[in-house]
Amino acid sequence: MMSPEILLRKHKLRNTGCRKDILKLFQQEKAALAHCDIEKRLSHHYDRVTIYRTLNTFLESGLIHKVLDHSGATKYALCGHECSDIKHRHEHVHFQCKQCHTTECLERLEIPAICLPEGYQAQEVNLLIEGLCPECRKKP
Ligand SMILES: [Zn+2]
Ligand SMILES: [Zn+2]
Ligand SMILES: [Zn+2]
Repeated sequence: MMSPEILLRKHKLRNTGCRKDILKLFQQEKAALAHCDIEKRLSHHYDRVTIYRTLNTFLESGLIHKVLDHSGATKYALCGHECSDIKHRHEHVHFQCKQCHTTECLERLEIPAICLPEGYQAQEVNLLIEGLCPECRKKP
């Protein structure tokens, strides 16, 4: 895995403490993170606005993408290495576990092409599968 410093440089972003810490957090977590999770888990304290701005910068530059699930909060997850500010493509399946409530990216599972009725134009496609994650399935 690329270090946060190298990832930031690759996306032409200046290296700041907050950016580095948030990026590191995303790399450590398998699950998608909401703003409040990020705030709670950061080892240093940053104010809400700084975190909010950092997330927006990351969204724009192809480092993270939004993940929609049933939690009501917007969650974010790390993009694959092929994403950039010009090309942001991640039409992959997201999986939410009903037991532990984590949502993860199933990057390798692409959403199948869907033919819309005439006149409609798709701009974003989201597919969420709900069920039990491997960890929770193991529990009795
Ligand atoms: Zn992306
Ligand atoms: Zn689970
Ligand atoms: Zn994803």
